[in-house]
Amino acid sequence: MKLALLGHHGKVGRVLGPALDAAGHDVRGIGRGDAVDVAGLDAAIEFTTPNAGEGNVRTCLEHGLHCIVGTTGLELAQLAPLARERGLVLFHAPNFALGAVLMMRFAQEAAAYMPRAEIVELHNEAKRDAPSGTAKATASLVGGDPAIHSVRLPGLVAHQEVLFGGDGQLLTIRHDTFSREAFVPGVLLALEKLPTLEPGLTVGLDALL
Ligand code: NAP
Repeated sequence: MKLALLGHHGKVGRVLGPALDAAGHDVRGIGRGDAVDVAGLDAAIEFTTPNAGEGNVRTCLEHGLHCIVGTTGLELAQLAPLARERGLVLFHAPNFALGAVLMMRFAQEAAAYMPRAEIVELHNEAKRDAPSGTAKATASLVGGDPAIHSVRLPGLVAHQEVLFGGDGQLLTIRHDTFSREAFVPGVLLALEKLPTLEPGLTVGLDALL
């Protein structure tokens, strides 16, 4: 496909660009200060910032591109009508790591049998917000308002454990993200599934699995 990669110089963009090339896509990188020149392209992949992302997505939808959005902290619901009107897919995953999505799914399943749960999420010290969005999403899937413990230390990337305690036993479901390569398969999956999605906003990789 002919793709725009918005934020191609960013930490995720630098990993995604070569991976999309290697998967046979024709990628136009767009960075800060570049014109969002996307006419004639098929789809956009957006990994920039909460300030830039919404405007970029709007421009891409107005030019007829399906949009796959990784940037967090955007109000994408307000762009859903535009996507629907144009017959375009607007897909957002707060976490493109397939393993993290499976961890949440397995945790939801375990909670039906072992309801006493707590969550430990561990991230690099550069991550300011706590608890993480993934931990909050996991808590709502598990139910029962589980405690969330947030750890911020150098050396960590993104890790989460969901602990289920029962009489005489402990079940731990853990996911570790070691590098940004973890997000590549999720983005490739979203691209592959674009033709199967309804126009408008779809949220979460779970919808593609
Ligand atoms: P980053 O390293 O800060 O990269 C963001 C890039 O966007 C920078 O190169 C920045 O340029 C560029 N940029 C800023 N404004 C732009 C604009 N108007 N048009 C085009 N590019 C622009 O951040 P990151 O770690 O790659 O993460 C990017 C976003 O993805 C964040 O919101 C992060 O939370 C999110 N994220 C999501 C997932 C997921 O699974 N959904 C995973 C990882 C990260 P400058 O360097 O010049 O400012």
